[in-house]
Amino acid sequence: MTRRHDIPPTAMDELRRNLERLKLEAMLQHLDAALDEASASEQGYITFLAGLVLKEVLARSDAGTARRLNAAKFPETKTFDTFDWTFQQHLNVQLVKDLMGLDFVAQGRPLLLLGRPGTGKTHLSLAYGHLAAMRGYTVRFYKASRLLAELYASLADDTTERLIGRLARVDLLIIDDLRDIPVRKEYATLLFDLVEARHLRKSTVVSSNLSVKRWGKVLGNPALTASMVDRLMERAHVINIRQGRSYRTEGPQAPPEHDRPAELSEPENDEA
Ligand code: ADP
Ligand code: MG
Repeated sequence: MTRRHDIPPTAMDELRRNLERLKLEAMLQHLDAALDEASASEQGYITFLAGLVLKEVLARSDAGTARRLNAAKFPETKTFDTFDWTFQQHLNVQLVKDLMGLDFVAQGRPLLLLGRPGTGKTHLSLAYGHLAAMRGYTVRFYKASRLLAELYASLADDTTERLIGRLARVDLLIIDDLRDIPVRKEYATLLFDLVEARHLRKSTVVSSNLSVKRWGKVLGNPALTASMVDRLMERAHVINIRQGRSYRTEGPQAPPEHDRPAELSEPENDEA
């Protein structure tokens, strides 16, 4: 191929200007090196062009991943690399691993993570979220209490529809830690509307230390919550770690057994 210094400077200038105009920044940045390499190794035109375009594709997917990870607003990074598969005796490891294929995200199916505090629900939801963002899906992580507060606040300035519309478009919405929180009577309707907007289209992960039966009481409207659970259960996967032990109080960083307060060893009575 033609050597770089054999190309007329005006042609090179025009090429650079056009790459810049088209915002093909990685191609622009790698142009000189790619031309040198092409002439040194006597590349054909197609090989040269394919290599240069690949630089642009790689740069953009890196930038896209960073953008998606940032937009997800994860409170911290947790991945499957740091997940101890042997710790939780009753965890359905096969199911957790199958779900790492992320078909449930592609198919817009819900995922429920149920279990006592410390059993790894948040870790798993963050790990799925991280994986999904890496694979090109848009993700948004919310603590349930924060999501409800934001939905409630949107009523005041009449932006609820816009907020729900925006959240309805996210490929994977994680609602972490639905628990006993001070209830406002609007919560059940707001959450129902959000779940309804995503139903059968986009995947929602909900984690909770409460049995699904108790969500109605938490959200203050058992009938409407039952309709919401109905939608969430349709085609849902459920990872149930209810028999699990807490990684916080029994994991490798936990205080030695004889120092632990006795009540922590008691199973949580949450089957109401
Ligand atoms: P939950 O959300 O169920 O209350 P978390 O996911 O927050 O529990 O887990 C509590 C802590 O223990 C976190 O730091 C988490 O990373 C860690 N953890 C829980 N389960 C595991 C596990 N199987 N392997 C490694 N770390 C774990
Ligand atoms: Mg949690």
